[in-house]
Parts: sequence; C-alpha cells; structure tokens
Amino acid sequence: MEITVLDVGQGDSVVVSTPSGHHILIDCGPGPTGSDDQGIWDAGKGTVLPYLRYKGINRLDAIFVSHPHDDHMGGLSSIINNIKVDRLYMPPVDYQDSMVTAIIEEARENNVLMAYITDGYSIKVGDRVSIEAVHPPDTLKASSTDTANDSSLVLMVTYRRFKMLLAGDIEKLGEQSVLASGNDINVDVLKVPHHGSKTSSSPEFIDRINPTYALISVGNNNYGHPSDEVMERYRDSGTEVITTKEAGAITIITDGTGFSIKGYINQNGR
Ligand SMILES: [Zn+2]
Repeated sequence: MEITVLDVGQGDSVVVSTPSGHHILIDCGPGPTGSDDQGIWDAGKGTVLPYLRYKGINRLDAIFVSHPHDDHMGGLSSIINNIKVDRLYMPPVDYQDSMVTAIIEEARENNVLMAYITDGYSIKVGDRVSIEAVHPPDTLKASSTDTANDSSLVLMVTYRRFKMLLAGDIEKLGEQSVLASGNDINVDVLKVPHHGSKTSSSPEFIDRINPTYALISVGNNNYGHPSDEVMERYRDSGTEVITTKEAGAITIITDGTGFSIKGYINQNGR
C-alpha cells in the first residue's frame, strides 16, 4: 500500500492506493475560493489531478472531506469535474455552508454518491484494507464554520498491522472526544491535526497515539502553523516529525507489517 501526503501548500490532501488497485483521496487541498492570500491557486487542478495522472489513476473509489473548510475542500470541485469519483464522504454540519451546497450540486451532476458519516462508519477497500471514521460522534455537529475544525472526520487507515491516523483539523475539544471514545488510536503514522497548530496535539493525545512518525501538512500561512512547541512535544516523545513544507510530498510504503517513509525533497529515506 502506498500513502502520499501531497504538498498542497497550506492545506491537506492525502492519496491512499491499496494493493488491490483501489484509490482513495482524503481532502483536496485549497481552492480558488480561499480567503487566504493564495489568489486563484487551486490545488485540485494544480497538484492533486497532475499527481493522480502521473500515477495513472483515472478513478477514485472515494473522497473523504474531513470538514468543509477551503484548505481541505477547495480543490474538490476541479477533481470531481475531471476524474471519475464513485463516492464522497463528509461529516454532517448544522449550518448552511455555500461550499457544501455547491458541491452537492456538482456531485449530483457527476453521479458521485454522497454520504454524511460519523464515528463508527467504516469501508473495506479490497483485501485487508479498511478506512474507519473514529470521529466525530453525531452529537458533535459543527454549528458554524468557526467550529467546524473540531467536528472534522478523523480517519483510521489500516492495512494488516499497519495503522495511520488522519486527524483532520481537530483541536482541543475534538481531541478530548477522540480520547474519551476509548478507540484504540495507537498508530505507526499520524497526520498531525490542524497543520501542527498550537491549539491541537495535546500531550495526552500524543501519548495515546504514540506514533513513530508525525506528518504535518503545512505551507506558508499567517497562523503560526506549525507551532515549534508542538513539534518539540512530538520529538520529546520520541516521534520523528516531517513537514510537507520542508520535505514536499511525503510517501509511505507498507506491506502491512513494516513500512518506509520518504519526502520528495529528501529522497534519502528515513
Ligand atoms: Zn486546515
């Protein structure tokens, strides 16, 4: 199995390719509607689609959108309008979001089945690969765009003994909810919540996950991501931290027992 955390600048986008030839996308990077100073940059068109074409991927079994913020969902429109996508999964929200409304329409036009999912929802992808939502519970629907981070989908990708957790943009409340759920979240690799923000990655959260590698998807931003203190916190617990800002795209290859990981810029392997 190959998992690549793409370098989409300030945002998230991860491609999972299974041994049985299935391909899943988790988040789509920022799009042209973003309010950040990214101008008309569209990571869907500029990074995700070219990567998929380079890898010979012309169909996605599913796209998971962790939460409806531009840096995770902005690139989605270009993707579903240019490549065959079977299913689209999102967490439910309790407010009207213009980006979601527009995507529902585009999904319908492109025959993409759409479903709102919460914790406990799991899909099997070919042999021995599963992707399971471990968060949010349906009691934690975002009431506004400002609180959408904590209701991000948190996804556990499992292939035999290998596990990776993708934590969306959850912050303190979301982390506490994940911890309280009692789910086994000890993993090999963590996609760090909220771009390494200082409002996430509490010591208890890092402790329970206890990852060998912590991957931070981050680009130029005005929020102070990633926080030096947070990166120190991971390193102090024996976790190696890799950021897309320094390493470019980060690829994990696993046979379900061991795994290797390397950044595009530093190809020496780690
Ligand atoms: Zn984000």
